[in-house]
Amino acid sequence: MSKSEIQAKSLRRVSGIADVLEGQLGRPRPPRKKSPPLDSLIATLLSQNTNDRNSYRAWLNLKEQFPSWERVHESRWQTVAKAIEVGGLKNQKAQRIKLILRTILQERGSFALDFLRAMSDEQAMEYLLAMKGVGSKTAACVLVFSLGRDVFPVDTHIHRICNRLALVKTKSADETFEAMKPLLPSGRGYSFHVNLIHFGRQTCRSMNPLCGQCVLFDDCSYPLRHRNQAKTPAIMRRKRETDFLITEKIATGNSKRRNHSDR
Ligand code: SF4
Repeated sequence: MSKSEIQAKSLRRVSGIADVLEGQLGRPRPPRKKSPPLDSLIATLLSQNTNDRNSYRAWLNLKEQFPSWERVHESRWQTVAKAIEVGGLKNQKAQRIKLILRTILQERGSFALDFLRAMSDEQAMEYLLAMKGVGSKTAACVLVFSLGRDVFPVDTHIHRICNRLALVKTKSADETFEAMKPLLPSGRGYSFHVNLIHFGRQTCRSMNPLCGQCVLFDDCSYPLRHRNQAKTPAIMRRKRETDFLITEKIATGNSKRRNHSDR
């Protein structure tokens, strides 16, 4: 089989998996109201190494205490850290937020990332990845949730599932992001991203995956799936959580609160 035939086969397989998940969980659509790119960047940074609830509380505290990105920039990092404390890693995150704001101000003269809209996906990713503390997941989230681009952010859930399904054989989420690029069917980045996160939280969990309830069981290569199948309790159908990603919440919640727009 030629390389192009192998790739076409992989594309069909990923498309089939995305179809199965959409059949079970629905086809999530991106929110019509998009957050400013700088909001998405900071919110995704706040979501690192914590849960949805606490990262969103950290975001709301930040918005509440600082009326503009200028005020965050002017404040001491310790004051910013106090505001986002509930989200964990407060010192590291506060210093990174300050560094990002300083970098953007020095390079662009204002606290705005809207110039990314004129860039290609590759250019925008390259710009964001050059910032300290910004990895491929965070950068790709900005592209998806603020720029409406068809890219596929990879977090730890998605990295784990893509490897269990043998779509890729990678050691990190960044590697999975690169390896999945040529395999992603056009127009499916958002839906596949959201559904895989949901699937990873509810079914293909890190510990004790519920293989006996899994709609992808026959397509899976995880060596322990048969053992886990036997241990899985009876099927409980669940609906997809809605509005659970911070990047979606800040888009829908922004209009009700003080505006940190970077437009
Ligand atoms: S069979 Fe188990 S390991 Fe494989 S995708 Fe399903 S839940 Fe995950």
